[in-house]
Amino acid sequence: MAERAPRLWDVARDLHRHPELAFEEHRSAALLGKELEAEGFTVERGVAGLETAFTARAGKGDGPCVALLLEYDALPGIGHACGHNLIAGAGLGAALALRDALPDIDGTLLVVGTPAEEGGGGKAIEVEAGVFDGVDAALMFHPGVHSWTSAPLTAQVQYRVAFRGRAAHPTGNPTEGLDALAALIQLFQTLAVVQRRLPEGSHIQGIITDGGRATNIVPEYAEGRFGLRGLTGALLDEVIAELTRAAEGVALATGTGVDVAQVSTRYAHFRNSDVLSETFAAHLARAGITVGEPTPGVYLGSSDIGNVSVRVPAIHPFVAILGPDESDHTPRFAEAAGGPAGRTAMLASAEALACTAADVLLCPDLGARAWTELRAKEAAGR
Ligand SMILES: [Zn+2]
Ligand SMILES: [Zn+2]
Repeated sequence: MAERAPRLWDVARDLHRHPELAFEEHRSAALLGKELEAEGFTVERGVAGLETAFTARAGKGDGPCVALLLEYDALPGIGHACGHNLIAGAGLGAALALRDALPDIDGTLLVVGTPAEEGGGGKAIEVEAGVFDGVDAALMFHPGVHSWTSAPLTAQVQYRVAFRGRAAHPTGNPTEGLDALAALIQLFQTLAVVQRRLPEGSHIQGIITDGGRATNIVPEYAEGRFGLRGLTGALLDEVIAELTRAAEGVALATGTGVDVAQVSTRYAHFRNSDVLSETFAAHLARAGITVGEPTPGVYLGSSDIGNVSVRVPAIHPFVAILGPDESDHTPRFAEAAGGPAGRTAMLASAEALACTAADVLLCPDLGARAWTELRAKEAAGR
């Protein structure tokens, strides 16, 4: 890794200096594809119908298949404030190191360029398109403010609730009016009560996206958007049922009509492969970085890696580039992702990812144990 370090950092810095938003990562995807192609990987661009997604393959094709996941989208206004440039750099570094170390390996090394983690869910779309079919291990790291073996990420989806009433003049013919906005506000009040009895990790957050046109018209239409979360897919289903029941109840009580609809890609919760994340942690420890268990009760949002992790054994450890009192999605985090702390985390993670991938390719028992664990968690609904 040492001799490749300057080039890898150049690539990560290049991505950092040219941040691109979800599904617009043309320059980033092209740069990463070119680096892989130059090292003999077979690159396929535009996979899963996404212009900025790609795969790169090496290996003979028999035996296990290990996927390294590269994110490279940035955030509006604050650039690489989630450090995805480091995820791309580490995945690239791991792929190149592995190819150097095991040029004639049975098995497949698959690099997957996964766009739009911050909005759109490239991985979710790639999973549905079959990009991860046949994969035995999906590996990535994420820079963070903690060093954790696993990512406490909940299942998440967004719903739109639209109430339909009847327009009227508030003083001219008030009794003719059916106030759709009042119904929507009533729904917020009801959900505040519902929220109190949701289990840990479940959550409803709403905004009003349409509240009427003028103060002298009783609103005939009002619309809200709700972000729903649950610790698992089954618990998210219960939150969706709560929202639907509350909306229908309010409609019944207020005499309005209501329409409840899913309006985003659904993210699954993250199911960590303990077998593989422990392997990663052991390799990372050699670089002097200790990763521990996530703090109980802390949840870090949701990600499209969840959709991969419920299908194939996957890891998404966090490696800190800032202290635990800071946060990602901040200008300070963007600065760290382009500075020395980011470089250190990226290179150490690249090495640990390469070693973990090599273990899966060389020890069939490891992959088998990872699959057994995944099936057990699936059966237990975790
Ligand atoms: Zn982010
Ligand atoms: Zn991120």
